[in-house]
Amino acid sequence: MKTKAHEEFEYKAEMKQLLHLIIHSLYTHPEVFLRELISNASDALNKVRFRELTDKTITPSDKELSITIAVDPKKHTFSITDNGIGMTRDELVNNLGTIAKSGTLEFVQKLQEAKKTTDVDNLIGQFGVGFYSIFMVTDNVIVETRHAGQDARGYRWQSQGHGTFTIEEIEKKERGTTISFIFNEKSKEFSDEHRIKGIIKKYSNFVDFPISLGSEKVNSVQALWHKKAAEITKEEANEFYKFIANDFSDPFRYFSHAVEGNVNFKALLFIPQKAPADYLQFREEKSLHLYSNKIFIQDDAKQLLPEYLRFVKGVVDTEDLPLNVSREVTQSSPVMAKINKILTSKVLSFLENLAKNEPEAYAEFHTQFGPILKTGINSDFANRDKIIDLLRFESSRTDGKKLVSLKEYVERMPKEQKEIYYGSGETRKNIEQSPTLEYFRKHDIEVLYLTHPVDIWLMPSLQEYDKKPIKSIDSSDLALLNDKKIETPETKINETLLATFKEELKDVVADVIVSKRLVDSPALLSAAKDGLDPQLEKMMKMMHTDYTAGKKVLEINLEHPLMKNLSRLYLANNQHAMIKQCIRQVYESALLMEGTLTTPADFVKRMTDIMVEATK
Ligand code: ADP
Ligand code: MG
Repeated sequence: MKTKAHEEFEYKAEMKQLLHLIIHSLYTHPEVFLRELISNASDALNKVRFRELTDKTITPSDKELSITIAVDPKKHTFSITDNGIGMTRDELVNNLGTIAKSGTLEFVQKLQEAKKTTDVDNLIGQFGVGFYSIFMVTDNVIVETRHAGQDARGYRWQSQGHGTFTIEEIEKKERGTTISFIFNEKSKEFSDEHRIKGIIKKYSNFVDFPISLGSEKVNSVQALWHKKAAEITKEEANEFYKFIANDFSDPFRYFSHAVEGNVNFKALLFIPQKAPADYLQFREEKSLHLYSNKIFIQDDAKQLLPEYLRFVKGVVDTEDLPLNVSREVTQSSPVMAKINKILTSKVLSFLENLAKNEPEAYAEFHTQFGPILKTGINSDFANRDKIIDLLRFESSRTDGKKLVSLKEYVERMPKEQKEIYYGSGETRKNIEQSPTLEYFRKHDIEVLYLTHPVDIWLMPSLQEYDKKPIKSIDSSDLALLNDKKIETPETKINETLLATFKEELKDVVADVIVSKRLVDSPALLSAAKDGLDPQLEKMMKMMHTDYTAGKKVLEINLEHPLMKNLSRLYLANNQHAMIKQCIRQVYESALLMEGTLTTPADFVKRMTDIMVEATK
């Protein structure tokens, strides 16, 4: 069949509509034309690389597979050349004359709608029409191409992007494609090498083929994540991390992961050394970079990992997504959900191994990112148990540097102990001074110390570990104490004293009970059976000014000399003014210890009165 030397074709109606939309500034960032062209060149190079392996009819190129870009700032010209697969005449007609994928009309409509939103730039590639973005920056495009098949000829395709395009046969020796044009009036800024270089760095820095601009190779950084983990040097990884994470320090750790099968992707992930300030409140936008076959799609692909692993940075490259698919689509894409699931397990098992093999390094990590990791317990139920095992706490058995896991705690728990205990406070010292700790110290029972607000929120929601209830030492309902028999020799006297306490404090406490755990202190306030942890309650008050705390239980220590004296005083004269004064003072002292005393003036006045009485 004889080919005509020059032929004119008319675009289909919907194609015209589409071109019209593109030309009339549908994109908000016309610079993406370059991303689209480089992406197509890279596709063509990938195709020829693959075909060369299997197909003997492919014309070999004596040049290395590469992309060459040239701009002339005076003439405002642009050209991009690749020695990839090229196009036959039919392919030119089909690929650059029609929209291959169905649903074009809907696409056009979608673009029209998207114009109201901010995400137009990423919509275009979704339907495989990236090439046409070129018409944003020029009014006349020339494509010269020669297919890599043996007896292929060269062709020139030309279009003004309106109604028609032409194709003619040309003399072309090298296989591959050159696309050239003159920038239109409003796009002249792009004929500057620096500008072009910046755009390449931004969108195409990790394209697997060298991109030269003038005499310079621009894309210095390779697609590191495509290397095998063992082949990536530490220097390379560090360099890459700093580039993508905008960090000046080396990463704390990195690891790579490649998956083939049901879903295909490669990932190179990093954990930074330090948590940024306020990272619990805010999520950094740019931490996970999404690539599709080495072509950059977006640098804020939050859907790749759950919120509680948001400290992880890195790159994920998948062939299962269409290039620069829109955000709306990536967000709801089942591919992203699958990758998320796999990466989540990968990160968690990386942390498990770190905890097992390098406990000190893990503690370092935990100090930085433990609080955010912990929030996963209430959001990722599938991995809840794994996350729980990654938690570390300070404890009465440690010196504040070493941290313990719940597993360790349970392993060294004596047989009789049925529950896991924790105390909470603003600092370690605070907890250590709390009277509620006395009993545990005396009986050498380990207590976990919670000082971080996240822990204090979290512990009550954990409820149990390894079937052992987790309880605050401030709770009045502890199995440990209920097991013990109450030894109260002077039961009668104690009962009347107790009744007096109850009567005197009936408006401010839920109950007064005989404490089974106090050693050195006369009294303490504990949470009622269904009450909140005191630290948690404090936070609630801070956050909700109208929050009213539940009433506490006052536990009194009958072994304490003060209580013995009071009993004696009561027997002698149950109307003695000092009794009521002391009861108030005991209660307010407990409030003071807790940090919730709101009437210091009354407290001090009463204290002075008692001292006056005592020194009489
Ligand atoms: P997509 O890349 O999503 O297929 P584009 O509109 O970017 O959509 O490109 C349309 C088609 O044109 C490509 O699929 C490809 O077949 C062809 N094409 C574009 N540029 C080149 C090139 N440099 N070399 C070979 N074929 C190309
Ligand atoms: Mg394309």
